[in-house]
Amino acid sequence: MRFRRLRLSGFKSFVEPADLLIEPGLTGVVGPNGCGKSNLLEAIRWVMGESSAKSMRGAGMEDVIFAGTATRPARSFAEVVLSTETDAGQEMEVTRRIERGAGSAYRLNGRDVRAKDVSLVFADAATGAHSPALVSQGRIAAVIAAKPTERRQMLEEAAGIAGLHVRRKDAEQK
Ligand code: ATP
Ligand code: MG
Repeated sequence: MRFRRLRLSGFKSFVEPADLLIEPGLTGVVGPNGCGKSNLLEAIRWVMGESSAKSMRGAGMEDVIFAGTATRPARSFAEVVLSTETDAGQEMEVTRRIERGAGSAYRLNGRDVRAKDVSLVFADAATGAHSPALVSQGRIAAVIAAKPTERRQMLEEAAGIAGLHVRRKDAEQK
């Protein structure tokens, strides 16, 4: 799976709609401290289903919504759209939107879906929100310090079999 395009609106410091094309090959994000580089990576993790506010550097999930500055009012929602393409060339668009007081909603190719559906899509593609392919600031140390069971989970995601566990848990609950 390849990421093709990322659109953000009201997400963290990206108060104005931003539309970024992700070209094939290596993409670098450069800019001064605090300009929003990590926020971009967090937007990718968030739209793929990240459910931990802490790992998004916030106290609650609504902290991803633009909080306002001295000169700009806060926004009432944040939305991120990630366009991807499978190795077979099939396009997919995932949207996540959060509104103050109303929680998150997801869409997959324009259709309303559950968070779990989105997690499954990315778990199968081994690119999930917790994929070892996404290494955020400070995460290297976490990988080194991980317990064996945690490290196994990382390896399983890297090997592309994490989706099986999500389905097994799902089946056990039924
Ligand atoms: P560094 O080079 O230091 O790693 P960076 O480019 O990765 O910096 P980020 O951490 O992505 O920068 O961006 C931090 C900025 O995002 C801060 O200015 C912070 O105030 C802003 N920010 C984070 N959350 C919100 C929010 N909810 N509303 C408004 N601004 C926010
Ligand atoms: Mg950073």
